[in-house]
Amino acid sequence: MHTYCRVIGCPNPARAGTADGLDRKFCRSHADHYQRHGSPYRGSFTAAEIEPFRQQALDRLQENRDDRFVDNAVARVEGLYRRAGPHVEAFRLRGLSPADRAKAAWARLRERCVDPLRVIAAWLAVDMAIAANPQIRDDPEYRRVQAAKLVHRMASGTHKRWTREEPDPNRPGRRRTATTEMHVYPRSRGRVLRHIGADLQQAVDLI
Ligand SMILES: [Zn+2]
Repeated sequence: MHTYCRVIGCPNPARAGTADGLDRKFCRSHADHYQRHGSPYRGSFTAAEIEPFRQQALDRLQENRDDRFVDNAVARVEGLYRRAGPHVEAFRLRGLSPADRAKAAWARLRERCVDPLRVIAAWLAVDMAIAANPQIRDDPEYRRVQAAKLVHRMASGTHKRWTREEPDPNRPGRRRTATTEMHVYPRSRGRVLRHIGADLQQAVDLI
């Protein structure tokens, strides 16, 4: 029935049969985009778009830490941490199913002692960013994947920062201290994000 990609204006044929269920809807490039971002059309929010909302959400959560709905969400995120099983080293993730990789991400958050409020704030930030952009269609899949990407980053990033001395280009003969930062994130895979997103959505349900 769907010989062509469903994205309007896309002239490409839909992908040939594969196991992930997207095959009859989108061409390869739109299917890849959908896997990575949760929408065949829209890319992911940038850090600049999401950070103000994330901070706002975190402030509100901290102010209302005693609220019973906040408390409930914290308890549920802690439940995800507890049930995530043992910590899995990043290099051992290969070969695990998407569901097990999602559990490993929750276990990493636990090992890093990430405050559950930050996890909840990620969901709320995406919620707020979508609400603030009327041109974004409210699609539950996009919402889940975008929130899961933020959470996956909290679980997985490697961050380094170092300083070095170098000649100061503005003051000949003088030296200055330069700071370099490196942020490395393992690529988050589409199906892992669906699992993390569904877990997260359940946890924050009442908020
Ligand atoms: Zn297409």
